[in-house]
Amino acid sequence: MILNIILYDNPILRIKGKAIEAFDQQLKDLASDMLETMAFYKGVGLAAQQIGKALQFAVVDVSSSKIPSSLLIGGKPVPVEEHMPLFLINPTLKYTRSKEISNEGCLSFPGLRIDVPRSKRVEVNTFDLNGKPRKFEAGGFLAIAIQHEYDHLQGKLFIDYLSAEQRKTIKEDLERIKRGEPILSNKDKE
Ligand SMILES: [Zn+2]
Repeated sequence: MILNIILYDNPILRIKGKAIEAFDQQLKDLASDMLETMAFYKGVGLAAQQIGKALQFAVVDVSSSKIPSSLLIGGKPVPVEEHMPLFLINPTLKYTRSKEISNEGCLSFPGLRIDVPRSKRVEVNTFDLNGKPRKFEAGGFLAIAIQHEYDHLQGKLFIDYLSAEQRKTIKEDLERIKRGEPILSNKDKE
């Protein structure tokens, strides 16, 4: 089932997700609906807050992206596409110190792209849908998608990384998203 995407600035996007306690059929159904919704909207990640549920649960699938990703399990590189989709369930992250700028979009901010500093690599501790602990290290685009979704689970949004100055430049875009109107491209603004 394709679910409705919650748009900025619905307050649920600011709520830290509650931990998943039951690894039951309901969770598997939610996972299935969120994967279908993410694919329909051509996203690479979707957090529970974005479909109206404040939970520690997100789905990630970077297999449609041409931007390189890496995945290490037990310190060994594995083919990324064989491990998609990934589920972030009650996840914890360890960030590497080195950062790079990532140009990101978000399904809750249709049409908006902004630059966000992200760690090049992350170590992830999470669970699978059966409640089994999973540990892996991600790099490249996968690391960025995981950090973006992890932030959603904490009630944090990518616009929070902008300086007051940068925020001014997208003020009108944010107002349009709030009103449910398409944002103007840079060309249309000129
Ligand atoms: Zn997002």
